[in-house]
Amino acid sequence: MAPFQCNHDGSCSSVMLCCTDTEMTLTRKDIDRIEVEGYSREDFLQRTEDGFCELRNVDGLCYFYDPSNQTCRIYETRPDGCRFYPIVYDMKKRKCVVDADCPSRSTISRDEIRKVCHKVRSLVETLVREARNGESPC
Ligand code: SF4
Ligand code: SF4
Repeated sequence: MAPFQCNHDGSCSSVMLCCTDTEMTLTRKDIDRIEVEGYSREDFLQRTEDGFCELRNVDGLCYFYDPSNQTCRIYETRPDGCRFYPIVYDMKKRKCVVDADCPSRSTISRDEIRKVCHKVRSLVETLVREARNGESPC
């Protein structure tokens, strides 16, 4: 199992804040990829009121977070949103921003944001389309 790697300053390395009380939403592709690993969507997902599929928390931690060794159990196949975090897409401002909850946010350069923004925007468009069209698989 690969250790969780945060590419930033590690200031929340004892408990990964982005895996605590997560509201990470998943695409159909994310879910299919994780199920190939032997997990069942009924166990790791919950449906939001808006029709999105988000990761379920257990005792305040993501279903896949292992507090005993501070790792993500599905690190190699984790949802795309987890890969891009803390870079997120702000729907109101219509641009990529660094999530205010990440304690390492000041270490992320504009260049870093610019490089992945088109992928983050595309991910959000997919999530919204699947939720609006009733295609969310949870
Ligand atoms: S899937 Fe992994 S990286 Fe994503 S929130 Fe859960 S434990 Fe953290
Ligand atoms: S919240 Fe930020 S600093 Fe903490 S693990 Fe996630 S990306 Fe790294």
